[in-house]
Amino acid sequence: PRLANQIAAGEVVERPASVVKELLENSIDAGAMRLEIDVEQAGIKLIRIRDDGAGIEKDDLSLALSRHATSKIYELEDLEAVNSLGFRGEALASISSVSRLTLTSRREGSDQAWQVQTQGRDMVAELAPAAHPQGTTVEMRDLFFNTPARRKFLKTENTEFKHLEEVVKRLALSRFDVAFTLKHNSRVIHQLRPADSQVEAERRVASVCGPAFIEQSLRVDVNAEASGLRLSGWIGLPTFSRSQADLQYFFVNGRMIRDKIVTHAVRQAYADVLYHGRHPAYVLYLDLDPALVDVNVHPTKHEVRFRESRLVHDFIFRSIHRVIGDVRP
Ligand code: ADP
Ligand code: MG
Repeated sequence: PRLANQIAAGEVVERPASVVKELLENSIDAGAMRLEIDVEQAGIKLIRIRDDGAGIEKDDLSLALSRHATSKIYELEDLEAVNSLGFRGEALASISSVSRLTLTSRREGSDQAWQVQTQGRDMVAELAPAAHPQGTTVEMRDLFFNTPARRKFLKTENTEFKHLEEVVKRLALSRFDVAFTLKHNSRVIHQLRPADSQVEAERRVASVCGPAFIEQSLRVDVNAEASGLRLSGWIGLPTFSRSQADLQYFFVNGRMIRDKIVTHAVRQAYADVLYHGRHPAYVLYLDLDPALVDVNVHPTKHEVRFRESRLVHDFIFRSIHRVIGDVRP
């Protein structure tokens, strides 16, 4: 029952952004280093994600579309140590049940790619040979074509695209080593090369968060040797934060999270040193021993539970305090 509860996912497909999130996480899990995301009409008409990951074996292609067909958990204990981003084994099945899906893949070391096609649960084309380099392309068309009621819940194209873009931004900020291209209606929205130096990392943050953020922020890099905690990233100066209260990205061991303890600690430190009542803008990375944090609190995993929340809170508070204290006017 515990396993069942922990992996109970509910509906994963709420809007185009949730499709993109699941597909990108699969690509990352497959070791992809280059991700091409093409969408039309905010993803409602088309979402095509091409990766250069390990690919899917011919015999596993149809299986990948069936419920609970994860290749990622083998035993209950694995949940404790789960490193891969996805672990529920139903994303592809859910997406394929509400759209027209084409899955094309060439497995690492194989000289042939294969393709399957489904339309709302029904297999519409037999497994067929295809042309594709190593990796996988998932092409999803006509989201909710067979569930018009759910289609009605979608917002304007503009809003849906903002949600979708946000998913890409979060991943782009969590994996500097991976290249991302996002196109909307054939227009390039983000083109991000892998960043393996500080300068390149800042260039990526500038293109994801806007150049003004990097120009008006302070670099954070604090190590606590004793507790093994590390906080790095950027915190916006009040000049910037005034206008960009929603630019708040916090990653724990590479995973974007929202957490009250974290928000409180950053805000308190900021308000303490600078102006009261200001919402700081930040892109911050907390790295700590995985045993000190439980990421399986919620299936979408935007939530975490710190085993020693006081320690984490105080560390974040002190780190931010120190960094911004240095430049206090
Ligand atoms: P989960 O990610 O939870 O295992 P999914 O439904 O998202 O479940 O995917 C099912 C399976 O399909 C994965 O476990 C993986 O083996 C395979 N798969 C899906 N997408 C990719 C991809 N882009 N590259 C390689 N394998 C993939
Ligand atoms: Mg998945």
